[in-house]
Formats: sequence, structure tokens, C-alpha cells
Amino acid sequence: MSTEPLIFTLGAPGRRAATMPSWDIPERPLSDLLPAEALRQDLAPLPEVSEIEIVRHYTHLAQRNFSVDSGFYPLGSCTMKYNPKLNEDMASLPGFARIHPLQDPATVPGAIQLMYELEEMLAEISGMERVTLQPAAGAHGEITGLMIIKAYHAHRGEGHRNIVLIPDGAHGTNPASATLADFEIREVRSDGRGGVDLDHLREMLDDRVAALMMTNPNTLGVFDEHIVEIARMVHERGGQLYYDGANANAILGLARPGDMGFDVVHFNLHKTCSTPHGGGGPGAGPIGVASHLVPFLPGPLPALEQGEYVMRDAGPHSIGRVRANHGNFLVLVRAYTYLRFNGPDGLRQVSENAILNANYVMHALKDLYYLPFDRTCMHEFVLSASRFKADYGVTATDIAKRILDFGIHAPTNYFPLIVQEAIMIEPTETETREQLDTFIAVMRQIAEEARTDPAYLKGAPYTTPVGRLDLTLAARKPRLRWEPNQEPLMPAKPVPVGHSH
Ligand SMILES: *Cc1c(COP(=O)(O)O)cnc(C)c1O
Repeated sequence: MSTEPLIFTLGAPGRRAATMPSWDIPERPLSDLLPAEALRQDLAPLPEVSEIEIVRHYTHLAQRNFSVDSGFYPLGSCTMKYNPKLNEDMASLPGFARIHPLQDPATVPGAIQLMYELEEMLAEISGMERVTLQPAAGAHGEITGLMIIKAYHAHRGEGHRNIVLIPDGAHGTNPASATLADFEIREVRSDGRGGVDLDHLREMLDDRVAALMMTNPNTLGVFDEHIVEIARMVHERGGQLYYDGANANAILGLARPGDMGFDVVHFNLHKTCSTPHGGGGPGAGPIGVASHLVPFLPGPLPALEQGEYVMRDAGPHSIGRVRANHGNFLVLVRAYTYLRFNGPDGLRQVSENAILNANYVMHALKDLYYLPFDRTCMHEFVLSASRFKADYGVTATDIAKRILDFGIHAPTNYFPLIVQEAIMIEPTETETREQLDTFIAVMRQIAEEARTDPAYLKGAPYTTPVGRLDLTLAARKPRLRWEPNQEPLMPAKPVPVGHSH
């Protein structure tokens, strides 16, 4: 340990934030409990602070965060929609929140009923036969689905199928999951309308293909109207069709992957069903499968037998458990609440509004920003800053950074890879017309700034607690720890909207 004394900016010796009750058990020397070498010799150098100091400290830190509760968050593909507080109320009911993961299922039939009914709703929404709730994220659902497809082919004596086809606009988790599931990946080109290039697909299909993984609508936010033909082509050659359903908020009650011909579907409950996410979790990525794949599902599975909710073994062909216990159960409670609260008509309206909002914003911006795939979008759309880059040297990053100055989270940038300088925008259904109009005005102002004052955009953001970071260093060598005597990260002076200088 360094001998330099730590200098804390808060507190003073002797201050306390909490008063502990006195012992009501006999005190034992610590050396009875821990080996001597594990005991420290001096007191830890910790700040000594009063309650108000510590509360303000953490509140100020929290205020530097951006969240969907504090502002508009049009992050394409990763659907940051409002998380209704009703979901939180239900997830904090003691009957749900205090179940121990290892509790005997016979003592918690209500929890099993909730999982059973959630499975049924997801099966209905997706047009699948059965669902497993175990996977803890979309990517986890992908690898689970691919393991099921692998087990299915092996069971039919077609274990040689080792190729997974993936369109070039796919989410990065698709190729990553296929690689982890020990498949080879082949990329399928998009056509001029942003859908799968059927001729290229036909060329790639042979009897080594295990599956085609697709998102529909895809990451461009466009619906592939050839999907029935694509499904026919893949099935004819003995392949399976995997649906990346992270974007299911575009199709709820409007279209079902099962009806399009998909064999496996994953959901992102933390996107579609409004459960909070970010920072890596917790999430839930249930998958649904068509009837021929049901025997391979992970288990155990909730079941209703003679009026009782029980957990049942998944049978001899199951790929086995993919997660400890019962998945992220409280995320499932939130998703269940969301689905029941909206009901079938409400869910359809969710998707209709998501589509309407995306098209509204797209139409209001496409005269100033280049829209490479100019067609009716679903829940999101992808603009390109390529013309700003060519004309004024302004990149998608510069635009994204400037958006932050207006208290709005940046859209997804540089994804999908098939669009240069991509700006991917998903307003979601929960935003008001006024909020959408504000965002449109901000984007139009930034387009004007790109033309008249590109250098200003290069310096953005100006109003955030931390200015523009070195993107590579921030990712590779993040400074996550407080360091003694470092400059406090105080907000820079706010720059009024519509600056003049
Ligand atoms: C978010 C997303 C995923 C991955 O989901 P995670 O829960 O982050 O693992 C996969 N595909 C698409 C299209 C997504 O948007």
C-alpha cells in the first residue's frame, strides 16, 4: 500500500452517517474468527462523513447519469423505452422479491404460475409452440436457440450441418453467438431495399447450412417482405430459421415470426417488455420454438398438472440447463406485468405507436439528413452523416456529441455497418408528440450548425459533466476509480441552446 495519506474532499474525523445499535451478542476477538494474516493492522483510510454529506455525494453522482427517466433516449436497436413504475411495484411485492432461488418449488406455486402464463403469452405473441424463460439476455437466447438447432440436426443424423448464414446488417451478437455455438459463419448480402438478397442467399444455401439467423424488421428498421419466400428456401435445403426478436416491439399483435416460418425466436424482455436494462443487466432473453424443437428445450419447465403448477423435467433430448435457478425472475415479473397491463389490443397499439413515431421523425429529418433506405420504416430508421462528412467534415460522432448538449441521449452510431456514418434512431412508442418535435428541432439545428459552424460541432458536448473523451482510451482504459486529489468533475458552464458567438 502507498504511504501517501489519502486526501478526501468530503468529511472530517469523527463524523458519522449512522449510529449502530449496541451489541446484543457476546463480543469475540476477531482473531477467533479470522487467521491473523487476514487481519489488517491499521484502520482503513476511509472518509468520515455525515449522513447529509453522503446522501448528497451519491445523489450528485446519480444526477450525472443519463437515464430514460431523466430524458429522451432514442437509442436505435437497443430500445430504451420508459419502464412503467407499476412493473417495479409488482417486482417488489415481498411474495416475489423474497423468494429464495433454491426454495422448494412446491412452496411457490404462484411464481411458477406466473412463469407458466408468461411463457404462454410469449408463445402466443411469437406464434411458437413453447418457450423457455431461462436465458438471461438476448445473446444468451441466441446461443441457446443455436444449441437447440444443433441438437435437432444431430438427432436427425445431420450433425455435419455446421454453417450459420447471417445477413450483413445483423446485430453483432448474432455472429458472436454462432461462433460460440461452434458454427462457421457466412455473410449474406442485403439488396438495394435493405432486405436479404435472395440470389445471394440461394447461392449460399447448401446441405451444410444449419440455420439462417435474421432480424425482421432488421437493424435498418425495414421489414423484409420476402420472408415467406426466404423461409421456404431455407427449409427446402434442410436449414432452420432463427428469429432475433430483440426488435419485437415493431410487430406485437401485427405479425408473428411463427407465421413467417421461423423455427426459433428470442425475445429481449428488457427491451420489448419495458424492463430496465443498461450496464449489462439484469435482463431476460426467453426463446420460443416450433413444435419439432420442443424436445430439445432446456429444463426444467413450468407445467400445469391436475390444477397444480409444478416444475417438470424437460425430457431426454433436452440440451440441459442454460442458467442457474429460474432466470432473472424479477425481470420476468416486470415483463408479465407489462404484458397483462397492456393486453392484446394494448400491445398492438404499442407497436403501431412505435412505428408511427419512427416514421414521423424520419419524415421530418430526411430532407436534411441522408436516408439511404428511403421506405416506410418500422420501429426505427437509420440516417447517414456521410454527406455532412463529405461537405463539412462533420461526422456521426460530432452530431451524437452535440445532441448531448440538449439533454438527449445520442442515437446509436456506426451501426449497422452497412450504412456509412450511421445514425440509428428509435424514438419508441412512449414519447409524446412534443418530445418528438423537440428532438426534430434539435436535429435540424445541428444540421444547420454543421453547415455554418462545423468547428463548433467538433468541440461538443459543452454542457455535460465530462466533455468529449478519447473514445478509444475511454473504452480501453476507463478511469472508473476515484483518485485522491484529482480535479473534481464539475459540470462545465452550460451553453445555452441556440448559441451565438
Ligand atoms: C440488443 C440486441 C441483441 C442482444 O441482446 P442482449 O440482451 O444485449 O444480449 C441482439 N439483437 C438485436 C437486434 C438487438 O437489438
